[in-house]
Amino acid sequence: MTIGGDAPVSVQSMTSTHTCDVDATIQQIHNLARAGADLVRVAVPGRADTEALRRIIPAVPVPIIADVHFEIQRALEAVEAGAAKIRLNPGTLSDQSKALTVIAACKERGVPIRIGVNEGSAVDRYDAAKRSQHEQLLAGDRRTGLVRIMVDRLAEYVRLFEKQGFSDLVLAAKSPDPLIVIDAYHTLSQTFDYPLHLGVTHAGPPSTGRIRSIAALSALLADGIGDTVRISYAADPVLEVEDAVELLQCLGLRARRKPELIACPTCGRIEVDLLSIVEQVRERLEEIDAPIKVAVMGCVVNGPGEAEGANVALFAGKGKAVICVDGKQVRTVDEAEMLDALMDEVRRYASRG
Ligand code: SF4
Repeated sequence: MTIGGDAPVSVQSMTSTHTCDVDATIQQIHNLARAGADLVRVAVPGRADTEALRRIIPAVPVPIIADVHFEIQRALEAVEAGAAKIRLNPGTLSDQSKALTVIAACKERGVPIRIGVNEGSAVDRYDAAKRSQHEQLLAGDRRTGLVRIMVDRLAEYVRLFEKQGFSDLVLAAKSPDPLIVIDAYHTLSQTFDYPLHLGVTHAGPPSTGRIRSIAALSALLADGIGDTVRISYAADPVLEVEDAVELLQCLGLRARRKPELIACPTCGRIEVDLLSIVEQVRERLEEIDAPIKVAVMGCVVNGPGEAEGANVALFAGKGKAVICVDGKQVRTVDEAEMLDALMDEVRRYASRG
């Protein structure tokens, strides 16, 4: 697969299993791929983990990225084991002689490397600049200063790779702060001609991390910035992939293959238990493999106007429901039959291609 250039924006995630637990890791990678992940990263803190890659890589349907933190030897082992890409913690680059060995091994095998900086690594430098009144770094507000330090740092790393004739790079500059992420990636896209890996780091659980992540990533993707995306939650990584895929679909960056369910927010005119109806429709739509827009609305009075654009729509009223296809009323059914009737119309619509 390709990251960057005209290639579609790819979705990636990271396993939460111990990589040396081969069966659990393979299972989770399959789950992530089924949810829409194009590539998956695994941590390789120990020798047993890089050994495990030899069994994992042939057993999964997506390319595997080896995530190397401090032990540069792991990067060499992962390349040997067939990793499609290496993610290096820049801390590992401080030992330049070892870093050069990894660069040479990746160059020889055509394995790309992702390098990135986090806001955390810029904070100490910013605080030191403040103490020493380093005017150039302190120009502008704290956010501007942090972004400047992150980008300068990344430029140092990029120079190290380019000096070795290595340009198969993907760059990242992450922060938990969406505004820093937006500023940093805008600057990266103006400074470097390398693919960018987007992400908001340490975003937290989906309940809070979702808004934080989508705020930053949607602003960048809508501006054409970003080549691969990882949403990171403190949760099952399948949720990360589902949200990233939905984001790309909403922005028109990935074709929809499954139905899109829209529903009214309910109001004082509601005469049915809409929330339970919506949940039942959502479950039933899982069997449909077609990009149909399905609307579930809570009344027949305002619903039709509000379900504008839906392919198949259900308007639930007191005891009765109206079903419309492409805006035309096709059936009126009793409430007890409405879900079956809706699904009949959805299947018929899907079969028309
Ligand atoms: S469709 Fe009807 S019940 Fe739902 S929000 Fe609109 S007016 Fe209210």
